[in-house]
Amino acid sequence: MAVPFRRVSKSKKHMRRSHLALNVPGMITCPNCGELTLAHRVCSNCGFYKGKQVVVVKTSNTEEE
Ligand SMILES: [Zn+2]
Repeated sequence: MAVPFRRVSKSKKHMRRSHLALNVPGMITCPNCGELTLAHRVCSNCGFYKGKQVVVVKTSNTEEE
């Protein structure tokens, strides 16, 4: 239920919002290239997974063009 903003103490507001934090997805540093990537997924930087090249990653040279 909506309650006027000044009726809720800072303490109560903070207690309620203590559960609202976003959680960071499991991140690892790629053992091949050292880039920070999502765990259990193919590295988006080099295309390696489980020590093997799984996906051929195109190197984007859009900034140079
Ligand atoms: Zn990598």
